[in-house]
Amino acid sequence: MIEGFHVGRHALREILVRAVESSKRIHRDLVKLLGDDKVSNIVTDLAVYSHDYTPINLHKILNLDLETIPCVVVWPESVQDVVEIVKYAYENHVPIYPYGGGSGVLRGFAPEHCGIVVDMKRMQSISLNEYDLTVAADAGVYGVILEQYLNYKGYTLGHIPQSLYESTVGGWIATRATGQFSTKYGGIEDLLLGIEVVVPPGRIVKLEPHPRTATGPDLRRLFIGSEGVLGIVTKATLKIAQFPEKRVKLSFATKTFEEAFEYTRLIIRRGVRPAVVRIYDRIETLRHFYWIRDVKDEPITIMVIEGPSSLVDAEADIVKGTFKGRELGEEPVDYWLRTRFVVKEASEYAALGFVFDTIEVAALWSRVVPLYREVIEAMKRVDGTLVASAHASHFYPQGACLYFTFGGLPRAGTTPYEYHRKVWEAAMDAVIRVGGTISHHHGVGRIRAPWLKAEIGDAGLELLQKLKRAIDDRGIMNPGNMGL
Ligand SMILES: Cc1cc2nc3c(=O)[nH]c(=O)nc-3n(C[C@H](O)[C@H](O)[C@H](O)COP(=O)(O)OP(=O)(O)OC[C@H]3O[C@@H](n4cnc5c(N)ncnc54)[C@H](O)[C@@H]3O)c2cc1C
Repeated sequence: MIEGFHVGRHALREILVRAVESSKRIHRDLVKLLGDDKVSNIVTDLAVYSHDYTPINLHKILNLDLETIPCVVVWPESVQDVVEIVKYAYENHVPIYPYGGGSGVLRGFAPEHCGIVVDMKRMQSISLNEYDLTVAADAGVYGVILEQYLNYKGYTLGHIPQSLYESTVGGWIATRATGQFSTKYGGIEDLLLGIEVVVPPGRIVKLEPHPRTATGPDLRRLFIGSEGVLGIVTKATLKIAQFPEKRVKLSFATKTFEEAFEYTRLIIRRGVRPAVVRIYDRIETLRHFYWIRDVKDEPITIMVIEGPSSLVDAEADIVKGTFKGRELGEEPVDYWLRTRFVVKEASEYAALGFVFDTIEVAALWSRVVPLYREVIEAMKRVDGTLVASAHASHFYPQGACLYFTFGGLPRAGTTPYEYHRKVWEAAMDAVIRVGGTISHHHGVGRIRAPWLKAEIGDAGLELLQKLKRAIDDRGIMNPGNMGL
């Protein structure tokens, strides 16, 4: 049995033993199909593949409260392996849970039934086409591997999520992800040209890359944001860009958060596309930039403008002429560039009982400021909340994304899960009231599923359910995710 798990933790031990017991037949069959080096049902693997990165899971892990344990983990090495797995699951009515890097934050990956976790990370091939400016990558390629490879060759994908080191190409597509440099390069939906997906009962859907196509509804889009409920993404062809010749780093302090939004709105509507724009409210300015001595109570905005030298200079001139804040130079941007992948706070605080999470939403410009105010107030009103803050991190001519953070200590008699749920309810209800979208880039998962209907409407949800049934008639693909 797993070391350390047995001390007074009989429940978990029993769940794991039961999972191994029930998995015996599936394990034996899959070993026959794929070979034993691609299949595991040992308890340590089952425990590790029981959850994704959803912050509230940290409390579940610390309380050894893992109610989602798969039965088998498989590591396919080719699209043919994936076809065999899906065929097997279909014929035997066994659920499949696709897994990329496990960095999802909404319990999109949560093996609630005795099913097969399909970890894509042994599918690792990358093929660059410098003439067409495209890269084809297997679903299991980690973001950091792809970006470093492209940089070495003189290119960039421009898709740099904070989870670059722990997320995969397949996961990005499945969650409709976007990166920190999205204001210039776009989200994954803007980069995706071609895709290969295995759908039940084990068929390969292959959509070749084209600069554009008008061949009916775009099936590529069906799989962007499908969160493993329709099929398993095995490969994608993505747009790339030349590695930027020049980078200009700017930062500003403004009297108010709202003022920074207004300057940014004016800049973006003029056609300027800084790769990075981040506007921090007062609390987040203190959290990240406490070390800047002459910034007291002023929200900070940082920007990175990159591309061909002359274009960057022209964009920087427009930004400087439009953004009326007090210039703070390059240092805040350098600091952000150095620390942007550091996320250790979340795990440090969970051990102290502190509940923390982030909620990213978006709205048209006319609703951004009301959205900020309403969501902050709603989160603060929940008993136990100690901090509620936000920054804006992705911009469009029509609006922006707000990324909220909350933290608190559940009151006596309240579990971390109840407190967490209450803040989510308060925030989601506020977003719907103001008319924003309930997710900008993390997706729906099991956490946001209750609000999907409020966003897409009765008819929209019915259509999604019909699509799900048409493609996955036996309901084997990530059942329960997105409420489907
Ligand atoms: C610290 C941190 C920072 C983050 N920063 C960002 C950010 O900047 N931008 C952003 O968009 N997100 C961010 N996220 C969220 C997360 O990284 C993204 O959702 C990411 O795209 C998930 O990729 P993954 O490979 O880890 O997928 P997983 O977590 O493994 O899976 C996510 C979902 O996709 C499904 N899935 C995975 N692979 C496949 C596949 N090949 N085929 C079909 N379905 C599949 C899973 O079943 C699950 O439902 C962050 C998360 C963390 C923990």
